[in-house]
Amino acid sequence: MSKSVVLTTDVTTPEQWVSSVHKPRFLKGRRVRVVEADNMPEETGIVYWIDEPEVNEHPYGIALYKEDFDPQSVRETEDHDLLVCVDCIMYIANGDLPEDRPDFEEECASRWPLASGWHINCGDEEKDEEFSWQDCDCCGSALGGSRHHAIAWKTVK
Ligand SMILES: [Zn+2]
Repeated sequence: MSKSVVLTTDVTTPEQWVSSVHKPRFLKGRRVRVVEADNMPEETGIVYWIDEPEVNEHPYGIALYKEDFDPQSVRETEDHDLLVCVDCIMYIANGDLPEDRPDFEEECASRWPLASGWHINCGDEEKDEEFSWQDCDCCGSALGGSRHHAIAWKTVK
């Protein structure tokens, strides 16, 4: 079970390869999806990881210490595993829009509307499929191709 929390400070990753479009997702006041840092010894003080596994083959998480989030803001999330097309994973990871698909953002938003609280994060590359005819779970594209794991989540009220 993952959770979400509201940040009380800007957090970022020291990894330079994390693109600048990712950074606004981790600013003070934002709600972010986290997993419990139960793999860390207590003396490290790390409570949660912001879960962004295996982007560009580099597993990473951003550590959250207890002063980095509002303890009153901790909520459970509803999560769905998705397999998405290349256009969608580029959009999710970097904010890149495909030049040849003018309705792309609407196609994604029709399934996972931000207005209803949905967010999509990159998932686990080990769950990627090299080739599939299955419709993309984000934009709905029926084109055959690679499918990449992603997670749609929203905070449960
Ligand atoms: Zn797609």
